[in-house]
Amino acid sequence: MGSMRIGFGYDSHRFDEARPLVLGGVLIPDHPGLLGHSDGDAIAHAVTDALLGAAALGDIGRHFPPSEPQWKDVDSMELLARVVELIGESGLRVCNVDVTVITEEPKIAPNVQAMVARLSEVLRTAPDAISVKGKTNEGMGWIGSGEGMAVHAVALLERSGD
Ligand code: MG
Repeated sequence: MGSMRIGFGYDSHRFDEARPLVLGGVLIPDHPGLLGHSDGDAIAHAVTDALLGAAALGDIGRHFPPSEPQWKDVDSMELLARVVELIGESGLRVCNVDVTVITEEPKIAPNVQAMVARLSEVLRTAPDAISVKGKTNEGMGWIGSGEGMAVHAVALLERSGD
């Protein structure tokens, strides 16, 4: 395995009026949450898959199957923390992570600072190693109609000690 590893993660969830919105470990008030077996934190899920992809360790569904009741309503940042442990056991650590959230609402920018603080804590990086940004889909398609949101994430890992 080389000393640098890149991984990509994607996630999408449907909005659900009955749930609180949690993104990047941050509770965002006054907006419908995301439907899912866990807390529906699509940023946490996309970043988790980016890390697992970079380490070639499978995906979130393999490590935390939705068929298992222990993962119901779980804090997805806890799953991300477990994956940081896992890649650490493979001798890897996070260099930097870049996230793009695609949604018409809510606005992502006002929540970026809190998300970066939370993500950098769990990923064991400096805050300036984490980037979170939001885009709309210009009103097009299922995102544009407000049916749900999508998240893309890339992660660069390096061998510990390099
Ligand atoms: Mg998900």
